[in-house]
Amino acid sequence: MAFDLTNRVRPALVGFEPYDPAFTPCEVNLSANENTHPMPAVVRKAIDQALTATPLNRYPDPLANDLRDVLAARHGVTRGNIMVGNGGDEILFNLFFTFGGSGRTLVTCPPDFSEYANFAKMCEMPIVNVWRHSEDFSLDVEALIAAGKDAAMVVVTSPNNPTGNLVDHAVIQRLLDETDALILVDEAYVEFAAEGTSVVDWIADNPRLMVLRTLSKAFSCAGLRCGYLVADPSIVDMLSAIRQIYSVDVLAQAAAIAAVTERDAFAPVVADIVAERERLSLHLGNIKRLEQWPSEANFILVRVPNASRVRQRLRDEYSILVRDFSYAPGLANCLRITVGTRQENDLLVDALRDLVKEEA
Ligand SMILES: *Cc1c(COP(=O)(O)O)cnc(C)c1O
Repeated sequence: MAFDLTNRVRPALVGFEPYDPAFTPCEVNLSANENTHPMPAVVRKAIDQALTATPLNRYPDPLANDLRDVLAARHGVTRGNIMVGNGGDEILFNLFFTFGGSGRTLVTCPPDFSEYANFAKMCEMPIVNVWRHSEDFSLDVEALIAAGKDAAMVVVTSPNNPTGNLVDHAVIQRLLDETDALILVDEAYVEFAAEGTSVVDWIADNPRLMVLRTLSKAFSCAGLRCGYLVADPSIVDMLSAIRQIYSVDVLAQAAAIAAVTERDAFAPVVADIVAERERLSLHLGNIKRLEQWPSEANFILVRVPNASRVRQRLRDEYSILVRDFSYAPGLANCLRITVGTRQENDLLVDALRDLVKEEA
């Protein structure tokens, strides 16, 4: 008898495939929006010391209270407002698992972070897409508000991945005022945006508002897997009850505490990435037949002729890796370029200038 797994898998999960970012080792990796700058020495030292001092024979604190206290202090909230997870990804999954299912819809605004749709499908949470305007990727605000009225949850991403633009505070305010949905603002990249962009301060007055943050981007800790949600204590308590209790391990907790405590040391790195983003954008602007969109994050979305081939040749001939989005709806011929160090960005611009000319 042939063994057919399809019939045994939970129906909502049939067809899912392992996440494959098509990673190939390259000299210059600008594909995953990581922080490519060297970690500040004082942070690295604090992390190393914390790791060395951490015993491995005991289970982690399932509530990660010490880490929650450090994060709460960062944002001027209480421990009860903070929920940590194995990356923001785990928190997204847990949110949809907890608040989705049985006709409770998620409203999302593609093109945006593809994990929203993936995780929502896994959690049998119906998805309503409110597509962004195709020219500038701005939100269709009236359609968003209308969809939000029937939704369990609305997620907006600010800055948005992969388009780089912000969500106006007025739109978030309208979502809070005119809908009854849980409003999730994904701020994975907010450290790269102008000061005052975050709505984390709104949490105290808006119990339906949730803000997602991560140590994977500005904090240079993508490999650590640590993200967190700032939200009303009732939401944090509910999520804490259903989460995998030990998903943030002792080393991750210790390292995250050290990194967040030493956060001031990241300020010059973030400032440099922001300055490099503007310089990179200027240089990209000189490449004929390349279209780009303004970004408030640590990446820039561009459109070039024959993008898939350009990406492949960047990888194979120049050992530079960027992310291909040309398969994604609304993103024909688009590539997402992470802002790297000055040297990495220069290599990218030189290679891209040659390739776009050849492929046009
Ligand atoms: C990177 C990212 C996250 C979280 O990433 P983790 O590494 O799982 O913390 C969340 N949302 C968006 C839009 C992202 O790009």
